[in-house]
Formats: sequence, C-alpha cells, structure tokens
Amino acid sequence: MTLFSHPDFDDHEGVYIFSDPKSGLRAIIAVHNTKFGPGCGGTRFWTYADDASALTDALRLSRAMSFKNAMAGLDLGGGKGVILRPKGEFDRASLFASYGRAIEKVAGQYITAEDVGVSPDDMCIIKTQTDYVAGLDDGEAASGDPSPVTARGIFYGLQTAVVRQLKQNDFSGLRVAIQGLGHVGYGLCEHLYAAGAELVVADINQSVLEKARAEFGASVVSPETIHAQDVDVFAPCALGGAISADTVEEIKAAVIGGAANNQLATPDMGERLVAKGILYCPDYIINAGGIINVASEVSGTYDPDWVESKVLAIKNTLTEIFDRAAATGQATSDVADAMAAEKLR
Ligand code: NAD
Repeated sequence: MTLFSHPDFDDHEGVYIFSDPKSGLRAIIAVHNTKFGPGCGGTRFWTYADDASALTDALRLSRAMSFKNAMAGLDLGGGKGVILRPKGEFDRASLFASYGRAIEKVAGQYITAEDVGVSPDDMCIIKTQTDYVAGLDDGEAASGDPSPVTARGIFYGLQTAVVRQLKQNDFSGLRVAIQGLGHVGYGLCEHLYAAGAELVVADINQSVLEKARAEFGASVVSPETIHAQDVDVFAPCALGGAISADTVEEIKAAVIGGAANNQLATPDMGERLVAKGILYCPDYIINAGGIINVASEVSGTYDPDWVESKVLAIKNTLTEIFDRAAATGQATSDVADAMAAEKLR
C-alpha cells in the first residue's frame, strides 16, 4: 500500500490513522483542503475488503468533498472519515465514542456528519466526545438527517437536466431507474413519483423493494441490470463506480444523476458518456443538498431559507456546467473538476 504515490493522493493536507483495540476502532480521517474552512464530510462505516480500499475511499471522498463544498459556495473545506467495520462482535456505542475522540484529536481540521452506514444516533454518541460533529437530531442548530435535502437537490438537478436533454418541463411519462433505495434513493423516488415518473428500482434489500412496489407501483429489477434498463433517466443512489467500463456501453438513459459519490469508476467515463450522447450531472454537484444542510448547522444557526436557496442554486451550477460542456465538447465531469480546481487554487 502506498501513500504519497497513491493514485488518489492529491496533496491532501492531512491523513490520520486511528486504532483503538479496546473498542475495535480502526479509522482513517482524510483532510484534503481547508482553503474555505474546516474539512467537512460524512463518515462512512463499511466492511472494506482490505485497508487499501479504505484508504482509497478516504482519499477520493475527501477530495470530492473539497470540490463539492467549493462548488456549492460553502465556507467549508474537504474531509472524509472512514471506519472499517470490525469483523466480529463489537459495541457500537463504544466504537463511535472512540471515533469521537479521534475526531477531537484532529482539532477542528475535520467536522463529521453522516454517510453510508452511520445514523444520527451515532452522531449523538460522537457528540459526547467532540463538538466537531453535525447532522445532529437535537440541539439549537441541529439539522438532522441530511438525506431528505440531498434527495430534494437531486430532484431539482434532474429537473434541469431533463429540460436540457429531453426538452421536457416535467417528469410525466418519463421512466427513471433508481439504483439503491436507501435514505436518499427512497426520498428521490417520492419526489419523482409525485412528479409523474414511472419508476424502475433495484436494491440488495428486499423489504425496501416491496415497499417501493406497493407505494409507487415501481418495477423491480436485479442490481446487476438496473443500469441497463430502457429508461430516460438513470439515478445511481447506492455506492460509487456505477458507471464503469463494464456498464457504460449498456446504459440506455439519456440523463444520469443521483446520490452516489464517485459514480464514474474512472475519469475517462465522462468522455465515454459524451460519446454516447448522455448528459451526466456530476455527482458532487447534484448531491450537495446534504452538505448544504450540514453547513447551516455548522454556521451555528440553522436557517431553512438559506438551505433552500443554496439547494436551488444546484440548478444554476448545473446549467453553467452544461453550457460550458456544450461549448467546448468536454465532459461535464471534466468541466466541473476544472471549475472546482480553479476555485481551490
Ligand atoms: P443508504 O445506505 O441509506 O442507502 C444505500 C442503499 O443502496 C441501501 O438501500 C443499500 O441496500 C443499497 N445498495 C447497496 N449496494 C447495492 C447494489 N449493488 N445495488 C443496488 N442497491 C444497493 O445510503 P444513502 O444515505 O441513501 O446514500 C446513498 C449514496 O449517496 C452513498 O453513495 C452516499 O455516499 C451518497 N450520498 C449520500 C448523502 C446523504 O445525504 N445521505 C449525501 C451525498 C451523497
């Protein structure tokens, strides 16, 4: 395993490794860039195949948070925490308390919130050890679970992309494939269904699929084929890498936009999507709703009007990216990266 020559190492300001055999904690906190404020991004709690995969996730996701926060115009830098899920039995409260002490040691360079596998309850436990935590359910400025705001931002972003690509002002009659019906994916289904879309869904969790079938009349397909459905829009809302050398040629949707971070398995996928005439909404632009919600809490006063205005601004940012991409023939992902890198310079 390499660090400074790691392909995803991008002059991160700090990469911190924590181990606490008593609680079973093994965690990595990566702080990518603090130009606009403390590194802020969710903590992921996941079963990693090996340490190298956890490091890759921390490096890539923290950089994406720098880009996301800069492009959303927030006073926050980029950071991410990953906790390697212990193999055997463990006490969740003592694990997350230990993680809270780890965050405290990073001394304000990193502020955490929820990501995959982490709940507002876990945030409360972290809060017993450090103040560098947001996404709380209780407290003066508490913003709670960011997922509904993320889902709303993705819906707004897809509205913009659908107008641009399909010349349609609403979702009526459109077929949308949603990969992953978790906190964000299910919320996105609610918006799309209310807007008249026909839903095709996949998840590895059977119970949530039954719920979507009953509530939205959604068609259920296998996780292996969701990307290849005959749909207008594909929304990756599970984990990263949905658009890869294995899947890209099978995608039939005209628009892609969803919650997952790092949707492009490799950067060249952006150009492959251009070649196929697919309009891609860069992941860290369209899924910024949650961090916008968190940013309001971090500011010390939760302001729902400020949050809504910033979430709506996702539409403007996407429009600018689509315009620049159309003018230059570049991939939307490359345009977004160049704009973000420019802001961070
Ligand atoms: P979640 O854990 O609640 O949901 C993920 C869902 O994906 C689960 O239902 C899971 O069963 C399903 N899934 C896992 N593997 C799958 C597969 N191979 N095929 C289909 N479904 C699969 O997570 P979430 O909070 O909804 O977040 C989803 C994604 O969006 C993550 O990548 C996360 O990093 C990203 N994201 C979340 C937020 C937020 O506010 N929660 C904000 C920005 C980005």
